[in-house]
Amino acid sequence: MNRKEKQKSHLDLIEVLSKNDCPVCLLLSQDEFDLLCEWVGESGPEDGATEKRERLLDSNGFCNYHFWVFSKICGMYGNAVMSIDQIGKILNIPGFNGKGNNVIALLKEHFQNVRCPVCADIKEMESAYLEELISLLNEEENKIKYAQGDGLCLPHLMLLSEKKQSGPLFQFLIERGCVQMEKIKADAVNLGSKRHPPLSWEQTKNEKRSGSRAIKKLIGRQGHNSSALWRQHDK
Ligand SMILES: [Zn+2]
Ligand SMILES: [Zn+2]
Repeated sequence: MNRKEKQKSHLDLIEVLSKNDCPVCLLLSQDEFDLLCEWVGESGPEDGATEKRERLLDSNGFCNYHFWVFSKICGMYGNAVMSIDQIGKILNIPGFNGKGNNVIALLKEHFQNVRCPVCADIKEMESAYLEELISLLNEEENKIKYAQGDGLCLPHLMLLSEKKQSGPLFQFLIERGCVQMEKIKADAVNLGSKRHPPLSWEQTKNEKRSGSRAIKKLIGRQGHNSSALWRQHDK
């Protein structure tokens, strides 16, 4: 991340610190959309083999999640062009002629080697945001803002612990994390108790969003790749 990008991520993070949402997930959702739009912008048949399309080919395509998100924001012609690239690559695998017994083995090898470029870029941005957050939270006024919002989702709190897992700042994040979960839980309980009129008219915005806020807190934004985290606990 260069200086300009760093400055932008610094400002962006300050802006979302107090939201009822994970600040890192919030910024990554926008980044993810922007990244996919860059591929959409190069999906015209006339664009040919651009650097980005070559990168996608070398990566054996997007992961399942990003391919589907891409398909939703791309028109039918763009989807056809990008999918043809990938199908063409599979058909051109040496030995892949539809007759040999090794077709399935070649397919498995192909899909085991998918290195989704969006996942890769998001991973880098995620790491940079977490570093930036650690430095931002050294300032008291940012701590106050952070304490007002829902704070980091649990997957991001666990990821952050890989960078910093001791000291007063980490302690602050853990303590706030518990308070923030209590707050979401209380909003969800209130929502249930205000199910019917006339109490239902008094439901607050945060109470109405308590279910989605709770899910976000637990598993992060849609598409968050936390499988690596969970897998560690399977062992
Ligand atoms: Zn998050
Ligand atoms: Zn992906």
